[in-house]
Amino acid sequence: MNKNLNGIGMTSQRTRARLIERLREQGIRDETVLAAMFEVPRHLFIDEALASRAYDDVSLPINFNQTISQPYIVARMIEVLRAAPDKPDSPLGRVLEIGTGCGYQAAVLAQIAREVYTIERIQPLYERARKQLRDLKIRNVSVRYADGSVGLPEAAPFDGIIMAAAAPALSAALREQLAPGGRMVLPVGTQEQWLYLVERDEHGFRETRLEPVKFVPLLIGKA
Ligand code: SAH
Repeated sequence: MNKNLNGIGMTSQRTRARLIERLREQGIRDETVLAAMFEVPRHLFIDEALASRAYDDVSLPINFNQTISQPYIVARMIEVLRAAPDKPDSPLGRVLEIGTGCGYQAAVLAQIAREVYTIERIQPLYERARKQLRDLKIRNVSVRYADGSVGLPEAAPFDGIIMAAAAPALSAALREQLAPGGRMVLPVGTQEQWLYLVERDEHGFRETRLEPVKFVPLLIGKA
């Protein structure tokens, strides 16, 4: 839990509140997720030239051919990951994010989970995200420069895994890093992509196909 962001970016509070209303209209129900999205100043994670669009519900470019995810999809994925909209006080434990990008989603996750690990394969993005999270005094996120396609076995098991880039197929190696009761939310596919939920219980895994999505591809190896 991180409560250090109060007071940062006061000027954009009103536009941020409008974004939260839009997310609500689009069906995001989990108040814990909406509160976390309100807390994090998205404009600080993008180029100043684009800052005026920071609270539009769109993905935006962040260099190296990558994007900051659309707020709706960030909210939706974390809502599915939490799966406890009626239990505001049940925090996620340890969460892994694959594809840090600018670090925005990691910052939102940090409001909700006890510990967040996030992996980025492009070094300058990794460095910038690390600095941005440090500047915001978000201390429960560990940023790693590595190939996230294999997960992070040394920090496993995770209560939640969230992938911010689309894999061509569901990976069996990744789901093994889920704790029992853990949930993984990820886009799968190449041209046509779908959001999937993978749940692990004591008997095994259950996969649910949720909705069509559009993500940058998961690439193999470090850049
Ligand atoms: N989480 C971001 C979205 C980042 S876009 C947000 O908050 O908006 C997806 C990111 O995944 C890109 O930065 C891309 O470089 C990264 N990525 C792609 N393949 C990867 C891999 N194998 N390991 C780690 N990161 C990867």
